[in-house]
Amino acid sequence: MEKILFLAHTEPDGALAKPALEALAAACSLGGELTVGMVGAAAADAADRIAGCGAGHFLAVEGEAFQQPRYATDAAAAEALARAAGAGLVLAAHTSRWARALAGVAARLDGRIDTHATRIAEVNGVPAVTRWFYRQRMEGVLTRSQRPWFVLLDPGCSAAWSGTRGAATVERVPVKASSRTTVTGRRAPQSGQQTIRPDARLLFVAGAGWTKKQPDGVPHPERAEQLILEFLRASQASLGGSKSLVDLSGEGQAVLACMSHLNQIGQTGSTPRHPKGLSTCCHGEEPHVVGWRFITERRAINLDPNCGWARGKADVLYVADAFAVMEQVNRLLGGGA
Ligand SMILES: Cc1cc2nc3c(=O)[nH]c(=O)nc-3n(C[C@H](O)[C@H](O)[C@H](O)COP(=O)(O)OP(=O)(O)OC[C@H]3O[C@@H](n4cnc5c(N)ncnc54)[C@H](O)[C@@H]3O)c2cc1C
Repeated sequence: MEKILFLAHTEPDGALAKPALEALAAACSLGGELTVGMVGAAAADAADRIAGCGAGHFLAVEGEAFQQPRYATDAAAAEALARAAGAGLVLAAHTSRWARALAGVAARLDGRIDTHATRIAEVNGVPAVTRWFYRQRMEGVLTRSQRPWFVLLDPGCSAAWSGTRGAATVERVPVKASSRTTVTGRRAPQSGQQTIRPDARLLFVAGAGWTKKQPDGVPHPERAEQLILEFLRASQASLGGSKSLVDLSGEGQAVLACMSHLNQIGQTGSTPRHPKGLSTCCHGEEPHVVGWRFITERRAINLDPNCGWARGKADVLYVADAFAVMEQVNRLLGGGA
């Protein structure tokens, strides 16, 4: 039976985030001999919350130095935990923190790593990882004989572990925290409000059409922004953008202030996972639509009946003026005027 280490870092509030609980559920589903390894300022509370997961051991590297995401300390902690657990398979969530540190740890242990896995399951009696290649165009299932094998699971691909709280016995693994890197603070992009919501039921995507000349011969970017923000407020949808639109914002043109490159969906943007997606004033070209791979139900609003969405890329295309449609939708949602 494979020895499995589930690796997790705690959040600033001491708990485990949803991606970690999803990776834990995947680890539990494999049915091997499970050890939990945690990194953070203090791990006892997080360990108690998942005490019922069936792990035989709970290991932790603790201390203030391990609270901050930082390559040197995260890699040292993960290496110590992997050595202490002696696991063949190490599973963790594909957070930016683990993505930065675990490839180095795999190299130190003469192991291998696979990132952006969307699933891990037993196939022909061995663990096999599913992942997408070539910017989400081809799906492959692969397995490896090399151990330790590190696997980073993409968030949003499986249900999060849930269970009752208990009392876990946590064994501390001593690690000397040495690093030349000091974390001095956090900088996030300037944005009036939070528009990227990975857990939202709906992805609302705005395209460059919102900034183009409209039937009256002039563009209406202020009205566009007002309609979009009203809709986001009422629906709590997540906001995405096409490359053309976010590039315009980056070039400092008078466009949508709520939009940054972080919102870009597509081949050179992100591939979010939401049950539904609504694309507005966006043409639906292939490099953009590639980012919709994991959107289950897709709808689009475009003035052009020959736009890309009409060619099998959307389940429903409304050939209509998005300004008029969104005005009406906002009214129905009890918001806009
Ligand atoms: C290598 C490469 C990578 C790329 N990666 C990405 C990527 O990651 N993401 C991405 O988005 N693009 C990407 N692109 C660019 C992509 O090919 C398109 O150029 C881009 O998506 C077009 O953006 P758009 O549809 O918003 O704008 P446009 O093509 O200008 O389309 C605007 C649309 O708005 C419609 N419209 C205008 N007014 C209204 C109205 N009132 N109501 C309804 N509809 C209206 C028009 O009919 C038109 O179809 C990439 C391109 C390349 C070459």
